[in-house]
Order: sequence, then structure tokens, then C-alpha cells
Amino acid sequence: MTAIGIMGGTFDPIHYGHLRAAEEVRQGFGLERVIFVPSGRPPHKPAEEVTAPEHRYVMTLLATADNPYFEVSRMEIDREGPSYTLDSLREFRRIYSPETALYFITGLDAVLGITSWNGYMELFDLADFIAVTRPGYSVQALSALGVYLGEDRFAKIHPFPVTLLAISSRDIRKRVREGKSTKYLVPDPVMKYIEKEGLYRRDADRRAVRPAGPDIMA
Ligand code: NAP
Repeated sequence: MTAIGIMGGTFDPIHYGHLRAAEEVRQGFGLERVIFVPSGRPPHKPAEEVTAPEHRYVMTLLATADNPYFEVSRMEIDREGPSYTLDSLREFRRIYSPETALYFITGLDAVLGITSWNGYMELFDLADFIAVTRPGYSVQALSALGVYLGEDRFAKIHPFPVTLLAISSRDIRKRVREGKSTKYLVPDPVMKYIEKEGLYRRDADRRAVRPAGPDIMA
């Protein structure tokens, strides 16, 4: 059976923690490929706190371009309204045959909130969930979810420890705001894009986006 990973995240910005996690999950679960899905309009975050979707999409493309097993989907960027994982998984299910197993990959801390996601019970009919463990989050915290989800659904959540890189998007945004280097935290092309577009310097800059043009990769 073919298995595909769907790496969901706000990716504001994408960093080596995300990339290394995706690579280790791909190998650990024998995934044919991992499709990164930047959240268009994260339903659980105030819009003014999230960088324009197009910027996050371009950074995700730049970060994954050198890995033949990684792809990026615009699905949630192009879909109108809040980016519910349920809608995305339904769309992936329409694209792939039932013989293809889908694994939604995200941070353990994000999975801990899954019972607040739109239509969370149905999510488990569509995919399995890989909860990547990060420093500071205990796998034991997951066990409380079993009570809400029931045994069968809970069995579809797979905690997966990856090399612990204590990198976070929030910390990277703070470093940029304070004029500190982000080298070796994010891939160089992402760092250069952040500099070129002036992202994360001031809140007002973060939401502004130029139309994507041919110079976007320069
Ligand atoms: P978040 O709340 O910003 O992230 C929670 C934590 O998980 C952060 O520490 C984040 O680290 C980490 N994280 C996020 N994605 C990760 C990934 N792919 N690999 C490793 N760590 C990751 O969560 P989010 O990024 O906005 O959401 C994660 C996914 O859950 C997205 O696909 C989102 O659409 C989905 N989601 C859906 C619903 C819904 O359908 N209602 C609600 C909530 C979330 P960084 O900050 O360093 O990334």
C-alpha cells in the first residue's frame, strides 16, 4: 500500500525543525512523499497575527525545493474561508484512491488541540495522524485524548519522536524583529526571502504581500 504524508502547519516561517521532522517521518513510516500544506487562513489564529499566505507559501517552496520527496500544495492558500484540515483531507481523499494511506503530520502540541478542530471525529475516517514530539511536550499528555476520541480513533494518532531541534517559528520571528541572525535555523533561501521582503520587522509589514512575479526566486 502506498502511503503519503501531509505536513500541515502555518509555517510562519518554515524552519529546519519542520524539515528535519518531515524527513524523519518520511523514512520512519516509509512514505512515498511528503506534501507540505501551508495553512491559508488558520481558523484558530487572529488574521492580523499571521503573515500573508502567499509569503508563507513561497517560503515553504524555497525550503523544500532541494528534496525530491517533498512537495508543496496551494490547496489551503487558494481555498476561500478558514483553512479547516477536514476540507483539505476530504480533498486529498478525492485525489488519491482508497488504497493510498494518508498520514497527516503536525506538531504534538497542535494535535493536543484536535478535539477543537472542525469535524474532528470525521478526520479519523480520512487519515492517520502523526504527532511529532517537540522539546517540552510529553507524549503522556496525549492519553487524555483517548477519552474523547474512543479507542479506534485514538489508535490512529501516532506520536513520533524526532531529533529534538528546539527551533520555533515564534522564536525566529522574534530574532528577526530584534535584528538577530536566523542563519542555521532556516534554510538560506528562506532567510534571504525574509530579508528581501522585510518580513517580521513590524506587524504592518507581515501582512503586506506583493503580487508574485518572476523575480520572486531572485
Ligand atoms: P500551531 O498552533 O501554530 O502550532 C502548534 C505547535 O506545533 C507550534 O509549536 C508549532 O511550531 C508546531 N507545529 C506546527 N506544525 C508543525 C509541523 N508540521 N511539524 C512540527 N511542528 C509543528 O499550529 P498550526 O501550525 O497553526 O497548525 C498545525 C496544523 O493543524 C495545520 O495544518 C492547521 O491547519 C491544523 N489545524 C487545523 C484546525 C482546524 O481544522 N480547525 C485547527 C488547528 C490546527 P512552529 O510554530 O515552530 O511551527
